[in-house]
Amino acid sequence: MDLQKRSKYCHRCQASLDTDARICPVCHEKQLMAFEQATADIVRALFPRVYPATRIIFFLLIAYFILFSADIVLHPEYGLKEALLAPPTELSYRWGAHLRGQFVWWRLITANFYHFGIIHIVFNTVALKYVSPYVERTYGSAQTFAAFVILGTLSMACSNILGDNGIVGGASGSLMAFIGMAAVAAHREHTALSLEIRNSMIRWALFTIAFGLIISLSGSLGIDNISHVSGLLLGILAGLILPKQAMTGFDRLWKIRLSRSTLPVAVALTVTAFVFMTFAGQSQKHQSECIADIQHKNYAAATTACEQAYREDPSLPISYHNYILINAINGDHDRARHLCAEGKRRFRNQKEPLSFDKLCQDLERTRH
Ligand SMILES: [Zn+2]
Repeated sequence: MDLQKRSKYCHRCQASLDTDARICPVCHEKQLMAFEQATADIVRALFPRVYPATRIIFFLLIAYFILFSADIVLHPEYGLKEALLAPPTELSYRWGAHLRGQFVWWRLITANFYHFGIIHIVFNTVALKYVSPYVERTYGSAQTFAAFVILGTLSMACSNILGDNGIVGGASGSLMAFIGMAAVAAHREHTALSLEIRNSMIRWALFTIAFGLIISLSGSLGIDNISHVSGLLLGILAGLILPKQAMTGFDRLWKIRLSRSTLPVAVALTVTAFVFMTFAGQSQKHQSECIADIQHKNYAAATTACEQAYREDPSLPISYHNYILINAINGDHDRARHLCAEGKRRFRNQKEPLSFDKLCQDLERTRH
């Protein structure tokens, strides 16, 4: 019993080694350091044993859907019908969906977790349940979670930059990436069964893209074809690049380290994005206070509220507009002009005129 505990297997040749062995005497492969092994054991103990990444993603999507549906239902002007069938844009935006043409980096991450109603979430979680275990078996749990976050975010970025105006959310960019990864892995495995899987992945991808295009052309529903196609291409690329594991796990030390290191990156990105989203939610609250205070000529309180709103979310032109306005009212023209310059730099790629353009022109006129 004791002996069993004090042995491990070489990840490359499966020779039985002492737990403190640094190099395998059989194949000379370097082994993980004790703290790396210990960290991995702790992480593993925290999560489900079978397909942890798939289950965690599934849980996060469902829990998040329940949370914002509850928020919609609790709003006086909306009810269950809106929550399940047509979430209002204003609340979708607050819960992290992204607006095309307005590039806010953290929204490209949070948008992967946001779904527009019950049909959307059911579609995507069913797809997740089918394709994700195959990805996880091939690329490991850490890379699967990281691919969900990072490839999903990149597909959202493509959608944001290339697409026409509209609000976007949902995990389908990530899921199309999973289909691409699974197809590549199955193709490379090249057994009768895996080629069958590859073909079904290709059929599925083509069906999803064709279905999306037909629905979009009919104009009845908004489907994000750009994130579908870019997700699939990104998944194929990732499938070709990322290390794959054998039945016994990753066979080289560098593959183990590389695959594991993707997890903290993906978790940190996700947590940071949701922290930004929380601040942006606060910003909307302060924005309303700022506007109400200005209307009531309560300028001292307005100054505080407008400044807070701007600091919490400077990614919106309205934050600049209100903060410039209150500074102009207070006679602090230097700061107002400074904000005008900063805002113009920040939104220099925006095609439409900015909401604070006129304010800034008036400020320039008062200077002369
Ligand atoms: Zn070995």
